[in-house]
Parts: sequence; C-alpha cells; structure tokens
Amino acid sequence: MLKSISCGDLRPEHDGQSVTLAGWVHRRRDHGGVVFIDLRDSTGLVQVVFRPDGPEAAPAATETAQRFRAEWVVRIEGTVRRRPEGTENTELATGAIEVVAAASEVLNESKTPPFDVSQETQGQVDELLRLRYRYLDLRSQSMHDNIVLRHRVIQYMRRFLDDRGFVEIETPILTKSTPEGARDFLVPSRLQAGTFYALPQSPQQLKQLLMVAGFERYFQIARCFRDEDLRGDRQFEHTQLDIEMSFVDEDDVCGLIEELYTAIVEEVATGRHVLKPFPRLAYDDVMARYGTDKPDLRFGLELADLSDLAAASEVRILRGATEAGGIVKGFAAPGCAGYSRKEIDGLIAFAKGRGAQGLVTIGIDAAAPSLSALATEHVRSPIASALGLDEVRALAERTGAGPGDLMLIVAGPSTVVNTALAALRNEMGERLGLADPTLIALAFVTDFPLFEWDEEAAAWTPSHHLFTSPHEDHWDLIETDPAAVRARHYDLVANGMELASGSIRIHDRARQERVMRFLGYTEEQMEERFGQLLGALEYGAPPHGGIAPGIDRLLTLLTDHAESIRDVIAFPKTQAGTDPLFGTPAPVQASQLKELHVAIIPEDDAT
Ligand code: ASP
Repeated sequence: MLKSISCGDLRPEHDGQSVTLAGWVHRRRDHGGVVFIDLRDSTGLVQVVFRPDGPEAAPAATETAQRFRAEWVVRIEGTVRRRPEGTENTELATGAIEVVAAASEVLNESKTPPFDVSQETQGQVDELLRLRYRYLDLRSQSMHDNIVLRHRVIQYMRRFLDDRGFVEIETPILTKSTPEGARDFLVPSRLQAGTFYALPQSPQQLKQLLMVAGFERYFQIARCFRDEDLRGDRQFEHTQLDIEMSFVDEDDVCGLIEELYTAIVEEVATGRHVLKPFPRLAYDDVMARYGTDKPDLRFGLELADLSDLAAASEVRILRGATEAGGIVKGFAAPGCAGYSRKEIDGLIAFAKGRGAQGLVTIGIDAAAPSLSALATEHVRSPIASALGLDEVRALAERTGAGPGDLMLIVAGPSTVVNTALAALRNEMGERLGLADPTLIALAFVTDFPLFEWDEEAAAWTPSHHLFTSPHEDHWDLIETDPAAVRARHYDLVANGMELASGSIRIHDRARQERVMRFLGYTEEQMEERFGQLLGALEYGAPPHGGIAPGIDRLLTLLTDHAESIRDVIAFPKTQAGTDPLFGTPAPVQASQLKELHVAIIPEDDAT
C-alpha cells in the first residue's frame, strides 16, 4: 500500500505515530511560510501542516507543498499530533489532530477542475457540467456520501434477505419483452437476422418461472429498462429490489417489506423515522381521501366529498358539475382565510395548471366566533353573494373548516377533480410546512382496480401488469363489470411517491389466458409473447406473489443530499436520455449496422 492509514481514520489515539498518507489536495492555505493542506481520501479529510523552520521543520516537504494545487494527488509522511488547544475543528471527525509533515511527494498533478469539488456541487454547478465531469462531481462530499449510502442500503437488503432464506438469482438482460407499461429497448441479433432481444422492463416472467422452478424465495438487485419519456425524476434504467415468494398472501409480502424498510430507515439511514405500523389503505379509500393513489401521509388536509351539497346548491358551477355526472370535492387549508387576492389567484392558476376548470375558494374570517355564529361578513369568497350561510356552514362542517380557514373546492369529472385537488393538497402541505421533514411516511395502498380504461387506445389495460390476480370472488366480474374488479395488487408509497408495486399472481394457465383474452390478446399472440410462462403454469406452478421496490427513489428519501434521482446514481442519464460524459447515444459504424442487419431510416422519413 502507498499509505499506512486513511485520512478519515486518524484520531487523538494516534498522537505521536508516524503515518504515510495518500490522497487529494482538498484545500491549501499558506500562512507566512507554513503550509496547511486538507488532505482527502475516500474516508474523509485530515489537516496536514508543513513547517519551513522550527523544531518540526521539513523545508524540502514544505517547498514541494507550496506547489500543490487543488486536486493534485500527493503522498505525505509525517507524525500525528494533537492540535494546539483552541485550534480543534469540531466539525471534522479528525478535527482534534493534525499531521505534521516530514516528507511529501506529488503522485499526480491535476488540471484546474471546471468546478470546485471542495464545495457542494448539487444545486450550485450546472448539472450538465457535473455529468460531463462526473468523476470530479462524485468527489464532492455529499455525492460521495449518497453513493456510499446506496451501497449500505443494498448490502443491508442482501443480508436481510439472505438471513430469511432468500436466494439471489441473476436473470438475463438480453431477453424477451415483458410489458410493464413502457416501450422496450431492443437489441438486434447478429446471428438471427431480423430478430431482436428486448431489455427487461422487469424480470417479472423470469421470477415467476423461478417460483415454478421451486426456489420459493427469490430476490435480485435488478436493473430494469423502460424506454419512456423522462418526465420528472425518471431514468431509462432503474434499479429494483426484485422479490418473489411462493405460498404467500398479501400480508406475507407486505410484512416482509415493512420489516425491511423499517430497519433500513432506523439502522442504515439516520435521523429519519417511519409510521408504525405502516398504514394499509384500500385504493378506493385513498382516492376518496387524497385524490391520488400515492398520498403524502405526513399531513392531513383530507379531501371531503361535497357532491351531495353541491347538487342542492344555487351556485351554478357547483350544481352544474354534479348534473353533468361529475363530482365536487374540497379541503380546508388551515389559517389561510386571510389570503390576499393575489395569493388566491395564484391558487386558482395552480389548480387550472393541473387541469381543473376553476377553483372555488371560501374563506371563513378568523373574526367569526364560531360556525354557528357565522355572519355574512365572515364569508370571503368570489361567490359569497350566491352562497347562503347554511350552505357555507355545511361545506365547512364537511371539510372541517373553522374560523380562519380557507376551503378549496373543485368541481368537474372525477379524475380532473382528484388530480387537481391532490396536487393542491401537496402544495398547501408544503406551503404551510405541515410535513415533518424527518418522517418517511411509508404505507401500503391495496386492492387496486385490476384494469384501467385507456382513453387513447379505447381499451382496458392492466393497472399493474397482466400477471396480477383479481380478488378470488371477482373473477366473474371480469367480462361483466371490468371497472369493478379489484386486484390482489399493493403499492408501497412514501411522502407522495410510489416506491414499489407488487401483487399476488395468477398461477393457473386457464385463468391467466382468461385475463389475456379479456385484454384483447389472440391465441397466437398469447402463445408467441407469453408461451414460456403459460407453458410453465401447466407444470405445478405454486401460488406466488412478489413486489419490486425501486432503490433509486428510496435513496432520495434517505438522504438530505439529493435534489433528484440523478444524485443517488453514479452515472445517470440527463432528462434528455443522454450521457454527456460518454456522449451517448452515439452513431455506430456502417459495418456494425450491416452485421446487425439494420438500416437507418432518416428521421424525416420515419414518420
Ligand atoms: N414487475 C413489477 C414491476 O416492475 C413488480 C412486481 O409485480 O413484482 O413493477
């Protein structure tokens, strides 16, 4: 080894020891001939002092150190000393000591980096530049910490599952399409002209085949590839903790994940806590109360259904929505009755931006002694003149609004109302600072609909994937009332994000075909696309189910240092799906295309 100990490991107990260190020059300061450097390696920082004269003088080493620049790689021999009293740095793990240099050597110089890695880069440096020089960006403390935390979490998962009899099994990357609702990445075959492999959107069929193969408990830290628009925080490739188990029901799978995630939050990350036990909420219930299937449970602001009150209202926009078959819902924002015209306009614009036709706001002045003593002058609303006091009182009782609060109400088709109110609820939760920042409000949403109606395709599609089992007593609704069929499908959510989806699967060929047939697959398509799984289901497939929590998103919750999912991935793609470091995607040689039997259609002709 070029070093005898790592920088971050030095402590007062090493006082007096001779050490050899190697690392990067994090910072250098000259104080009248004395040179101080913060030397950094993967374990942390330590201060090294070079003295040109005096009892611990090392003139040659000091001269060398005077040349040091940021990010040079250097090696230092010296002696550990307690820092003189009053000069300790309590913010640094090694801050009670320093190393007095006796000799120093430059192992490699560095060009001046395009940004200062001794400072935080996240949010400070243009992200494209950070990704272009990712190897420098990853040197910054918080990025380094994020990647190490990722490693710790994954190691914890492996140990936890190994202890419980799970077997880690790799599945192929070059495989066949398994639909998870995205486009496939395709790889042309050189040997079989005109044919393609698909990169797995998930190892779904493979893990089910492993259950048929008798493993009973499988997991994999699996890379999944989905060619979808990179909205928000998505990446083409993401990492899942892929799990499948035999002879289990929903409680077994969710119970395992609850135990694992509680332990990760409590033992691996620090300063965070979870709700105990994780709430388990049915889909219909969360849609009613939060307007979304990924509710942020760190705060209340629950939605109330006001449709019956609206139906009896004189106010046209309220009654009209119910007459048109829509709904009216709303919630109370505490303490917001005094919002200015400008603030109210901002909320209206926000709701419209989320698809709502408009937003009805009704504030109850804080001066109102109580709801029962409500007077006209206490009602602050653009539609105040059309509202009767009894009506305001009834809406307030339903939404839980009292004096000082502001009711936010949306009317329209149910998906529009829910979408707009769910966003508004999150917005108000954030504005009012209602969420405990140390809480990771993990919860399970269960009993999803088996199918959802795809307007564009004018067809039913699976809400999760087509291997998900309906409730046992809902099989006969599939053909007669598909919207009513509830599935043995559960999601893990936290703080407004979906962290995992899973389900109990269909393990019988005839039943699996029944679902596929309902979704419009012909016999030939079923055989061609899913023949491998359908065939396996005929050879003693055990009842089984699983789940696949995404690791990237979990990490963004566990660290304070992630502004996006890209901050917890060592080499992510940009939101345009490019990698500025490697310059991918990139053209390839004509000869490579020929070997792959692939011809490029110019973009103009491709449509
Ligand atoms: N394959 C599913 C997914 O990637 C997860 C599962 O059902 O286990 O979302």
